Amino acid sequence: MPARHRFRRVVRLGPVQVGTAYDSRGREKHTAACTAPRCGFCADYDSRAAAELAARTHRCPVR
Ligand SMILES: [Zn+2]
Repeated sequence: MPARHRFRRVVRLGPVQVGTAYDSRGREKHTAACTAPRCGFCADYDSRAAAELAARTHRCPVR
């Protein structure tokens, strides 16, 4: 496995962190990942707005 992405502009919205990284093709991608133990929510989005929206609307099952 190659090294994991380095995230920039990381913000926290509730339990979910949103960060921007470059994928293997040098394109920006935006990841929303929940920090709650045992939740496991993590998804990639094409736009920062979409990732932040997903973070805000995430309903954590382990809260
Ligand atoms: Zn969660």
